[in-house]
Amino acid sequence: MKIGVTGVAGRMGRMLVQTILETDGVSLAGGTERPGHPLVGSDLATLVGIPASGQMIVDDAEAVFIEADAVIDFTVPETTANHARLAILHETALVVGTTGLTAEETAALKAAAEAVPVVQAANMSVGVNLLLGLTRQVAAILGEEYDVEIVEMHHRHKVDAPSGTALALGHAAAAGRGTSLDSASEGVLAGRSGSRRHGSIGFAALRGGDVVGEHSVIFAGEGERIELTHRATSRAVFAKGAVRAAQWTLARPPGLYGMRAVLGLD
Ligand code: NAD
Repeated sequence: MKIGVTGVAGRMGRMLVQTILETDGVSLAGGTERPGHPLVGSDLATLVGIPASGQMIVDDAEAVFIEADAVIDFTVPETTANHARLAILHETALVVGTTGLTAEETAALKAAAEAVPVVQAANMSVGVNLLLGLTRQVAAILGEEYDVEIVEMHHRHKVDAPSGTALALGHAAAAGRGTSLDSASEGVLAGRSGSRRHGSIGFAALRGGDVVGEHSVIFAGEGERIELTHRATSRAVFAKGAVRAAQWTLARPPGLYGMRAVLGLD
C-alpha cells in the first residue's frame, strides 16, 4: 500500500516518514511541504537521515494524491480542507490528525467522507483512545456531583488551545453524563471567574518546553478526587496510529471514522 504524507518537514511529518519506512507492507508515495518551504526539492530521505531515496519533497499536493492509496495529513487546518477536496477528486483515502479545524473545514472533511474513507482523530494514540472510553464510563457512573476539569500540557509551539484531545475528552465526559459539551463547557480556566456552575466541564491549557502531550481528566467530588492521566513521551505513538489508520482504510467504504473504529474499540 502506498501512503503519502503532507507537511513532511513538520514534527509529525518527519515521524510519519520514519514510521512508514519502518512498517512492513507500506511504502512512501511522496511527501509535500508548503510552497516556499526551504526543503521543497530536497530528497525525502534527508528528513530522517538515511541515504538518498530519489523521492523529492514537493509543493504540489495533487501529485501525491494521484500516486497514493491513502494520504496522512498533519498540517494546518486551511491546508487540510484543501486536501479533503483532492481526496474526492482522486479517490484517495485520507487520515487527518490536524487539529483546530473550523466548522467550515470540518464540513470539507465530511464532504470527502461521502466519497472516500476518512479517518479523523485529535489523538491517534492507543492510550488516549482508551482514556476516551474510560472518561465516558467514569463520568456516567459519577454523574454531575463530581466536577470535571480537563488539564492539558503541550510544547511551546502548539497553536490551538485547549487541544483537540482535551475537547474530545470533554465530549466523552459530557456524553457519559448524557449531555453535550456545548451546554456543559466552562471554557478555559484563564477566561473564567466566579464560582463553578453545577454540572459544568472545565478546561485548563498549559504550554511550555518540549512536552509532547499530557492530558488529565479530574473528577472532583466532596471528600475525594479521581484523576485519569495519559502522558505521551514520543510522537511515534501518534505516527504509528496514523499509519495503522491508513492501512485500515484499504477496501473500506466511504465514511467518516474515528480511531476507536480503527482500533476495534467501538
Ligand atoms: P508542525 O508545525 O511541526 O508541522 C506542520 C507542517 O505542515 C509544517 O512543516 C508546515 O510547513 C506544513 N504545512 C503548512 N502548510 C502546508 C501546505 N500548504 N502544504 C504542505 N505542508 C504544509 O506541527 P506538528 O506538531 O507536526 O502538528 C501538526 C498538526 O497535527 C497540529 O494541528 C497538531 O495539533 C496535530 N497533531 C495531532 C496529533 C494526533 O494524534 N491527531 C498528534 C500530534 C499533533
